[in-house]
Amino acid sequence: MAFLTTVISLSSISLLLSVLIILAEIRLNNYGDCTLDINDNDRVLTVKGGASLLATLSEQGIFIPSACGGKATCGLCKVRVIEGAGPLLPTEEPYLSEQERKEGYRLSCQVKVKQNLKLFIPEDLFNIRAYQTKITQIDQLTHDIKGLRLSLIEPESIRFKAGQYVQLYTRPYGNVKEKVFRAYSMASVPSDSKAIELIVRRVPEGICTTFVHEELKVGDTVQVSGPFGDFYLRGNANNLIFIAGGSGLAPIRSLILDIIEKDLPYQMTFFFGAVTRKDLYYLDYFEDLSNKHSRFHFVPALSSPAAEDSWSGETGLITDVVARHLDTDSDYEAYLCGSPGMINACLNVLNAKGITEDRIFYDKF
Ligand SMILES: Cc1cc2nc3c(=O)[nH]c(=O)nc-3n(C[C@H](O)[C@H](O)[C@H](O)COP(=O)(O)OP(=O)(O)OC[C@H]3O[C@@H](n4cnc5c(N)ncnc54)[C@H](O)[C@@H]3O)c2cc1C
Repeated sequence: MAFLTTVISLSSISLLLSVLIILAEIRLNNYGDCTLDINDNDRVLTVKGGASLLATLSEQGIFIPSACGGKATCGLCKVRVIEGAGPLLPTEEPYLSEQERKEGYRLSCQVKVKQNLKLFIPEDLFNIRAYQTKITQIDQLTHDIKGLRLSLIEPESIRFKAGQYVQLYTRPYGNVKEKVFRAYSMASVPSDSKAIELIVRRVPEGICTTFVHEELKVGDTVQVSGPFGDFYLRGNANNLIFIAGGSGLAPIRSLILDIIEKDLPYQMTFFFGAVTRKDLYYLDYFEDLSNKHSRFHFVPALSSPAAEDSWSGETGLITDVVARHLDTDSDYEAYLCGSPGMINACLNVLNAKGITEDRIFYDKF
């Protein structure tokens, strides 16, 4: 009997505590309406408090660049907040330089809107729009890479620079209860303005890539926002080097096709690296392009070709292949896209060949 009384008492106490915690959470998270004063009274928005600044701005149609969708892992969503953001969080510290901290920069995904805020947003970000799109084509490019074509519904067309990216929004599926967004580079040319093409490599357990690879079907509608990013052509040298691995081919394809379409007078060499033949795609496509355009050269390379690959092309790490092809005295500009490991290794090779940092551009993912 005494045991039963103890169990009932403990259960009642824990129930009471749970109710108190829930009530406290509701009270604490209810920040009411807050004001966002943007660019010195240029735009003043009244918003509901409680969400991150990144999400709150996105709700208001102001899209801040972000690749990770709010997990504080990409560091792209910096915004200058001069009042109301609260203290800097440990999650923000790795992404902000001393100077940025002094100027009030914060990761907008980590700042929660709890009170009135004063902030500054670069004017060109106001041109970024949300687009409703329809999936019109899905291609299985390799065992873990899919190509998507999205037709724009509203607005009907998009303006972007070759090399830029969009944020793609998922819808809730399976155990994923909220929509998320991630960055994907446009693989198509800007002149094809009524559609965009994306190349998405599956990441094991990845929320967005599992959605794309398993849930998304032709005919589905999908939201994207953009364009974002500063990975676009500068064109200050005669020879352009492009280096890609995996889905990093996406923005490189857009850049190369745009240059060819505009008949710009650059010599171009595209190094596309993979481990085995099953990781390469668009081989015929780029070989065909190099046969048709004398200024474009294509160098696919495998680091560990399998016996059954019957590979007769370049073999070795992409860094070694690049090193073999480059002279030290030529006038180069380089565009790299792929994993952080590949890019860091290539930077060393390019530097050793005398290509200075201001002539090397990259997107790591
Ligand atoms: C500017 C930019 C452009 C990009 N363009 C493309 C593109 O064109 N095509 C493309 O496929 N991707 C691209 N990405 C990467 C993309 O934004 C996502 O990060 C990626 O698709 C994983 O998303 P997810 O939601 O599936 O994984 P998440 O749910 O975000 O991650 C799940 C887990 O996988 C890990 N993880 C995340 N990304 C990777 C990765 N790449 N490799 C290994 N592990 C990882 C995470 O650390 C986490 O533990 C781009 C990124 C940036 C910054």
